[in-house]
Amino acid sequence: MWYRTLVKFQTKVSKMKKLSIAVLLLAVLLTGCISASGQRDYQQYTYEIPGVFDTVVQVIIYAENEKQAQGYVQVAQERFGELHCLYDKYNSYPGLNNIKTINDNAGLKPVEVAEEIIDLILFAKEWYEKTGHKVNIALGPVINIWHDYRQQGSINPEKAQLPSREELEKASTYTDLNKVIVDERNKTVFLQEKGMNLDLGAVAKGYATEIVARELEVQGATSMIISSGGNVKLIGKPLTRNKNKWGVAIQNPLLNDGKTQNDPLDIVFSTDTSLVTSGDYNRYYQVDGEIYHHIIDPSTLMPANHYRAVTVMVKDSGIADFMSTTLFLLPFDESWTLASEIPGLEALWVFPDGHLEATPGMKGVMKGLGGATAQ
Ligand code: ADP
Ligand code: MG
Repeated sequence: MWYRTLVKFQTKVSKMKKLSIAVLLLAVLLTGCISASGQRDYQQYTYEIPGVFDTVVQVIIYAENEKQAQGYVQVAQERFGELHCLYDKYNSYPGLNNIKTINDNAGLKPVEVAEEIIDLILFAKEWYEKTGHKVNIALGPVINIWHDYRQQGSINPEKAQLPSREELEKASTYTDLNKVIVDERNKTVFLQEKGMNLDLGAVAKGYATEIVARELEVQGATSMIISSGGNVKLIGKPLTRNKNKWGVAIQNPLLNDGKTQNDPLDIVFSTDTSLVTSGDYNRYYQVDGEIYHHIIDPSTLMPANHYRAVTVMVKDSGIADFMSTTLFLLPFDESWTLASEIPGLEALWVFPDGHLEATPGMKGVMKGLGGATAQ
C-alpha cells in the first residue's frame, strides 16, 4: 500500500518529534482566527505524515478552514507516499519499477521508470558535474558497506568495526556515474555494470519535498511549512498578525541530546525558501571512541570531518538538499567558493570546535548572528 495513515496532529510544539531542523514556528503558538488582509480569516493547522523517507513529515498550514487544510495535506500525503516508493532502494512494491528495480537489473537490462525517477537522476548528474564530483548517486556500493557496518556496530557496540580498505576500494570501482545510462525517449535507466547501485539518500527527500510543494502551490496553497527531517520548505509567509516571516530553529550539533527545540543553535527568519541541514549527528556509530557518520567522501571513501553540520538556504529544496551534502564534503575554502557561485544560495558551516561561518545573506536572516526578527 503506497499511502500511509494520516494522523491529525494536535499543535503542541513541545511534543513534536525531534527533527534535525526543528520548526520553531513562533506563529504556531498563536491560536484562533486571524484577519490577515482585513478580508479573509486564516487559521493555522498542523499535521504529521509518518513513514516517508525515514522520517515524520510535519506540515503546518494557514488556510481559510479545516477542509481546505485537509485537502492540501491529503495531496501532500499521497504524493510523499508515491515518491517514497519510487525513490526506495530497499523495498519492492507490486507493479512498480523503482530504484531497487534499477539496482536489481544492474548489468542486465534497462528498466522503464516513472518521469520522477528520470528527472531526479538527470538533476543529480547535472549537479554532480557542476559541483566538484562530491555527491555521487552511484556511490551506493560504498555507502552500502558503511551502512552494514554501522548497523552491526549499533546492534553490537563492543564489536563495532571499520570496513577494510580493500572492500571499500573494490566497491568504489562500481561507482562511475557515467555508467548510469538514462534514455529519456524510452524512459529507461540502465546501470551498465553488475555491482553498481544507486543511492538517492543525499537528495531524494529534498527533491520530493520540492515536487510536493510545487503541486500544492498549483492547488492554491500560499502559506505553509513542509518539514521532513533536516529539510524545511517554506511556502509564502505566515498569514497571521504581527509576523511576516517563519521562524526555523537550526539544531545545535554540539548539543546532541534531543534538546534542539529548547536550545537551538540559532533561529532563521525567512519566507518562501528552503533550509536543509547535513550533519554528522543523526546517523553514526562509534569504533574505539571515534564517531563514523553517514556522509562519505568519495575521494577518501571515509566519512568527511570538516564540519559538524552545514545548513543551506536556497529556494529550491532539491538543490538545497544536494548542496548541503556537497558543501559538507568540501574543505572550507572550496565549500565557501562553491556556495558563493550559486545564485541565491546562502550557507552556514558549524566547525568541530564550535565556531561558525556564514555567508552574508545567511547572517542577515539569523536571529543570533545577524539580529533578524520575525518582522
Ligand atoms: P540526511 O539523509 O541525514 O538528510 P544528507 O542529505 O546529507 O543527510 O544525505 C546523506 C545520505 O546521502 C547518506 O545517508 C547516504 O545515503 C547518501 N550519501 C552519503 N555520502 C554520499 C555521497 N558522497 N554521494 C552521494 N550520496 C551520499
Ligand atoms: Mg542532502
